[in-house]
Amino acid sequence: MCGIVGYTGFQDAYSVVINGLRRLEYRGYDSAGIVLDGQGAFSMAKTKGKVDDLVAVSEEMKGKATVGMGHTRWATHGVPSDRNSHPHLSNNGKIALVHNGIIENYDTIKIMLTEKGFTFQSETDTEVLVNLIQYFMDLNPETDFPSAVRYALNEVYGAYAITVMHDDFPGLLVVGRLGSPLAIGLGENEFFIASDASPFVEFTKEAIYLEEGHMATISMEHGVDIRSIADNARIEPAIQELKFSLEQIEKGGYEHFMLKEIFEQPKSVHDTMRGRLLVDTGIIKMAGIFDHLERFNNAGRIIIIACGTSWHAGLIGEYLIEEFARINVEVEYASEFRYRNPIISEKDVVIAISQSGETADTMAALKLAKERGAFIYGICNVVDSSIARITDAGSYTHAGPEIGVASTKAFTAQLTVLSMIALKLGKHNGTLGNAEFMSLISELDALPNKIEETLENTHEIVKEISKDFVNSQNFLYLGRGYNYPSALEGALKLKEISYIHAEGYPAAEMKHGPIALIDENMPIVIIAPKKGHYDKIVSNVQEIKARKGKVIAVVNKGDVQVSSMSDYVIEIPETSECFSPIIAALPLQLLAYYIAVYRGANVDQPRNLAKSVTVE
Ligand code: GLU
Repeated sequence: MCGIVGYTGFQDAYSVVINGLRRLEYRGYDSAGIVLDGQGAFSMAKTKGKVDDLVAVSEEMKGKATVGMGHTRWATHGVPSDRNSHPHLSNNGKIALVHNGIIENYDTIKIMLTEKGFTFQSETDTEVLVNLIQYFMDLNPETDFPSAVRYALNEVYGAYAITVMHDDFPGLLVVGRLGSPLAIGLGENEFFIASDASPFVEFTKEAIYLEEGHMATISMEHGVDIRSIADNARIEPAIQELKFSLEQIEKGGYEHFMLKEIFEQPKSVHDTMRGRLLVDTGIIKMAGIFDHLERFNNAGRIIIIACGTSWHAGLIGEYLIEEFARINVEVEYASEFRYRNPIISEKDVVIAISQSGETADTMAALKLAKERGAFIYGICNVVDSSIARITDAGSYTHAGPEIGVASTKAFTAQLTVLSMIALKLGKHNGTLGNAEFMSLISELDALPNKIEETLENTHEIVKEISKDFVNSQNFLYLGRGYNYPSALEGALKLKEISYIHAEGYPAAEMKHGPIALIDENMPIVIIAPKKGHYDKIVSNVQEIKARKGKVIAVVNKGDVQVSSMSDYVIEIPETSECFSPIIAALPLQLLAYYIAVYRGANVDQPRNLAKSVTVE
């Protein structure tokens, strides 16, 4: 859950690494560090704080080397501090290492190394690994550097992506991965290493995504040599072509990535459906599902596993698939599913949802389900991500790179994929009649335009409303049916970026507890589209108003009843109830965004969070 960048070639390594770290800062941003090949002694700088803080203490390193590596950290072991920042050096000062992940057995190794006389400067698990490499080199002076890295990796368990340099082997970078991602960019006379391809997409479109349990040595002299960590067997590299451009990962005039990504949703939802939803011929063509329709139809049940926002998408997926395909669906937090010895049969289909495709909890859960014979279907945004590669089949969301830590366009893209899956399954197994199917797919097709209209019409209103809630301490979000998960997601967005405590609830549950919280200081966001238990919601609003709660209502255009009782009204266009979460998400994203902006929060990099959660 951090960003790693490495470089060897002809360019100024400092600039390549620093620019790369800026692109990866979404992955972790509590500390940053850089080390350059110093031909005899490393030059290194590291600090608590952001990449800008690192630049402030390291600018004189610019232009001094053509080989180097850097790291932006999301602390797991030890507080964010200069000392705990990466790179970490071995005791003899000759080996430098950056690491993404957790070495789970670091403490036993630390005890062993301490007994051998090693000392430690930091509280990290990482420093243990770099010293273990030194240990293997000291043990037998014949051991070369890459072999020592391999021996060390065979001793550790947990998750890692690492890049290692050795002062006596200038120009050589050694990388390895297990559980955390690492890509190698193949340029002309230069090589790049990065946690994802964004740091090098402007220099090359060719990349190797290192596989689980593989390591590589990278140098200008010998190119890229990939080996199995377990037995050193040579592995033929699989070179992939990158399909995204630099513009796609830049802010394009918006103040924050999050706002840019919110406004990209007409296009991203359209891209999710492109080539798959053929309205004229009444066909949903999704390769991943098409080949496995019977597997889905014969499933004892479908289990959706996910975390965070993706879990909310999963809940809506449950409603969709149960309504249209009449297949039993359960939605599980990946972390809970994994550790409670779940009952899984070979008839089960597991759908794993993850924007990054690297979410460690989801990955571990789906591996467990796979071991027990379930069929695994992935819904990921990042192409060629770890989850995408180990599933039996799947559908990419094609939302484009999502940089803002709080997920927006990936969420609506996930809902779009789940909608298509539900309709496709329902049509195939006959639980969804042709007329209804046709009308639903044309509704789906109309969504990009409705999203555009919603963003245009609600943007300024939501911005104004936000100003009144800058000092709120709490928020309640309520919805029913399909929009109960919308309430959860709205609350999560607010929590994540504004640090205001917010809870999402099914509206009917309010009277079973949360109603006790309601007074004139409690803002309550009610999601109340016309289709979807509207009358019941009207009663809920009445209950809130009787207790003087402040109601912000998200209603359909022309709404009268709920609007007349509400303090603030946000109108969205009508659509089928099953797709309404896609539209309702938009003003809720904007509300969270503007409240956070007015509170002066760092919207794209909220405290304690990171985009790609590659630790359990
Ligand atoms: N476990 C390491 C640390 O705490 C690496 C964390 C990360 O992935 O950034 O320093």
